Amino acid sequence: MTRYLPTPSPEATHDAAVFWSWCRKRELRFQQCVACGRFRHPPMPFCPHCHSGDAQWMPADGEARLFSYTVVHHAVSEKLRPYVPYNIAIVEFPRLRVRLVSNIVGLPADRLKIGMALRLVWQESDDGTPLPLFKEETPG
Ligand SMILES: [Zn+2]
Repeated sequence: MTRYLPTPSPEATHDAAVFWSWCRKRELRFQQCVACGRFRHPPMPFCPHCHSGDAQWMPADGEARLFSYTVVHHAVSEKLRPYVPYNIAIVEFPRLRVRLVSNIVGLPADRLKIGMALRLVWQESDDGTPLPLFKEETPG
């Protein structure tokens, strides 16, 4: 499998660090509010719905689909030049009602379709951190 994009930015918050520590175990998990049961992403210290600070990290539901995407044709830095054109995708987990910014791999841009079913795949970044990326879900 070829590498997609370089290492992600450094973690800005404690909650983001927890998210990435699960990723390093190749587990995609989202915060779920213990008080109201809603999921949230990106990681944050309080529930945006009920303001509770109690959360647990639950495995992502298997069902994912493409909510939106864009295709980048002009590299914003030299480091990204070898990767253009590349996509930036918003992946939705309908049951959990959360969305994740990621990339769709293994598919040319003209085959990306809003609503298409996706499957999680892990791909290591330059520093070895597994990144949660997505492929087209194929029947069977
Ligand atoms: Zn809540």
